[in-house]
Amino acid sequence: MAWTDQVAIVTGGARGIGRAAALLLAERGAAVCVNCAARRDAAEAVVREIEAAGGRAVAIVADVADNKAVVAMIEAVTAQLGPPTILVNNAGISHQATLDTYDPERLARMRRVNVDGVIHATRAVMGGMRARRYGRIVNVTSIAAIGTALAGNAFYAASKAEVAILTRRFAMELGPDGITVNAVAPGFIRTDMTRANRAGDDWAAAERRLAERAMMRRIGEPQDIAHAIAFLAAPESGWITAQTLVVDGGRMDYIGHA
Ligand code: NAP
Repeated sequence: MAWTDQVAIVTGGARGIGRAAALLLAERGAAVCVNCAARRDAAEAVVREIEAAGGRAVAIVADVADNKAVVAMIEAVTAQLGPPTILVNNAGISHQATLDTYDPERLARMRRVNVDGVIHATRAVMGGMRARRYGRIVNVTSIAAIGTALAGNAFYAASKAEVAILTRRFAMELGPDGITVNAVAPGFIRTDMTRANRAGDDWAAAERRLAERAMMRRIGEPQDIAHAIAFLAAPESGWITAQTLVVDGGRMDYIGHA
């Protein structure tokens, strides 16, 4: 199957990592559904950018935490672009909290988006992928899930650890049908999410601090992650499954016992 035969859904494709992934998949030749939760303007801007470069894309607002909305999105994509062959489960939110500031409602919402969202979208595309015996699913987890030491990330890390194990388990369930399931675990990336988490802080100082923790001595850009997503989503990557590809510039602050 060629890149030009691909139809990709990028959840949270309007901004940040998802936006960069949507643009790169379109550049490779895929038709792309740019999903978002609320910022239709941002999703439509990505669609216009893809169309201006000669590609095909649609913007669809759907909360991945809402199973019905996800099912309706897949039906709309199938009607407008064709049956999905690539799913990038990128939509996510990060609620910073510690044991002291634990807020069950906000954390339940985070889990519904970060974990249930992956389950909803995977279930919604798997029937069509199974029928055609082809599919590429790429989940976006985080290095927080493998134990980086950034404060305030415990519950977010736990939600992303769920995504990491679901990646391996779903790969096992869907492999016999020709569907690969992999994950990318980004390090610290310059996006609205990381800026919002440090609202009020000195961003330049935070960037310097985080850059010092990476062997490459810089923070990541959304394109660094998009490149890894496109690699795992490629037609040629059909014998790579159940893997988590860490893309963190060589972060050195993993929790250890030394
Ligand atoms: P971002 O800049 O905040 O963008 C998030 C995108 O996801 C937006 O387009 C947003 O839609 C969409 N979204 C949020 N909740 C959604 C929902 N319920 N349904 C559908 N779409 C939803 O985030 P980012 O930094 O690019 O992060 C993308 C992914 O990478 C997340 O899963 C995040 O956890 C993960 N990650 C990020 C970093 C990092 O350093 N940035 C590191 C590791 C992992 P609207 O535009 O409508 O708001």
